[in-house]
Amino acid sequence: MRGGVKLLNNYVKRVGILGGTFDPLHLGHLYIAEATLEKLQLDKVIFIPTGISPHKVQRTPALHRYVMAHIATCENTKFQVSPIEINREGASFTIDTIRLLKDEYPKETTFYFITGGDAFIELDTWRNYMELLKLVTFVVVNRSEIKRDHLLKRIKDFKNSFDAKVILINLPTLEVSSTDIRQRVKDGQTIRYLVTEGVEAYIKKYRLYKD
Ligand code: ATP
Repeated sequence: MRGGVKLLNNYVKRVGILGGTFDPLHLGHLYIAEATLEKLQLDKVIFIPTGISPHKVQRTPALHRYVMAHIATCENTKFQVSPIEINREGASFTIDTIRLLKDEYPKETTFYFITGGDAFIELDTWRNYMELLKLVTFVVVNRSEIKRDHLLKRIKDFKNSFDAKVILINLPTLEVSSTDIRQRVKDGQTIRYLVTEGVEAYIKKYRLYKD
């Protein structure tokens, strides 16, 4: 099976990666993945739910987040979900994930790491971020809470200091966050149209985010 996956990977040259807690995966995630796929003509986007995130307090077991990611993405043939981080013991560091992926794909593959402006602005807190900047092209989609000037300055600094490849994509901002969705569920408010129908049903079935 492993050999089969490697063989399939030979046909893929431009790979988007969207890592996140996905607690839960919402329409904001799907939208930035789809828009990047289209703009940069990617072959696929791999969604990678974090196992134990070094940056965030963990709330929901990885398995629930992983299953919801599958449910949310299953209708798009160019979307894939990887268990690479949830299968790893201990904290998940992006650098380890990228090294593994680089091993699995042919040398000429380009990896595009998609991040919201909020995540990108904190990139210098990520383990081995300088190496990471050499291994992938960062695709940054801004979120309303981050000032554009601040983001542009950060991008310029990374480009000047580390010769980083960073693409800023201008998209209409979708004001949806997992934090807001969890709060809405807790408060008994609707989350319809903020997550896919399947994810909404899953949250209801397993009574996630109720307390
Ligand atoms: P939380 O509210 O729990 O912090 P989140 O909604 O930010 O979660 P994550 O799973 O942490 O979701 O996000 C994964 C990646 O997707 C991050 O790079 C984040 O910046 C980006 N992202 C999430 N929501 C949006 C959005 N609405 N617009 C643009 N980028 C987003």
